[in-house]
Amino acid sequence: MTINQYAIIGLGRFGVSVARRLHEAGQQVLGIDINEERVEDAELYVTHAVVADTTEEKALTSIGIGNFDCVIVAIGNDMQSSILTVSLLKELGIKKIIAKALGKRHGQVLDKVGADWIIYPERDMGERVANQLLSPNMLNYIELSKDYSIEEIMIPPKMANKNLRDLDLRAKYNVSVIAIVRGVDIIISPSPEQLIEQEDILVMIGHRKDIAQFSNIE
Ligand code: ADP
Repeated sequence: MTINQYAIIGLGRFGVSVARRLHEAGQQVLGIDINEERVEDAELYVTHAVVADTTEEKALTSIGIGNFDCVIVAIGNDMQSSILTVSLLKELGIKKIIAKALGKRHGQVLDKVGADWIIYPERDMGERVANQLLSPNMLNYIELSKDYSIEEIMIPPKMANKNLRDLDLRAKYNVSVIAIVRGVDIIISPSPEQLIEQEDILVMIGHRKDIAQFSNIE
């Protein structure tokens, strides 16, 4: 895996989660916060942490922010600081700026000032919870568009020990299996003869409604 340099601005709940995960995965992570206490606490889960007010251009340049591959702006409630920080990062030529938005309007402004990827944690998590309720056997999903997704689905018990040809999921449910997760192994592009086992997880692509229907089979 390539090691990238990440800077996380704002070490609240969201920023800390991002930083911790990246750090666990062996990435170089710099944590930045205006609050000294938060910076002290961060020493445990980042490579390095500094106190700085990122709405000041000088503070950003003295950190050497230009050397980072990706900067994540996780400033929460202070919308003005979040917007100002993103616009400064854009001016300083940061290639990948990810920013957390509190709502739609905030997100639109972040987009205008140059954020490359805008995250709406509460909206996205809410959707995730609703999707999980609609598809109880779903473990994980990637949204491809409003209607289509790739989802990991636990197989209904009655489908175990049959092969993909016999199950005929494309004709019966209008979904395609692109991979099978079996314990620590993954079978990519399974053949029609592939036997499905009890504990298998199917990675399928299709219309969300069709996958939801499949995932509700008892
Ligand atoms: P969350 O909802 O993720 O917990 P918070 O709003 O609690 O988010 O956290 C945002 C963090 O961003 C806080 O720790 C705050 O000190 C920090 N922050 C706010 N403004 C600035 C700024 N101008 N420069 C650096 N850090 C900032």
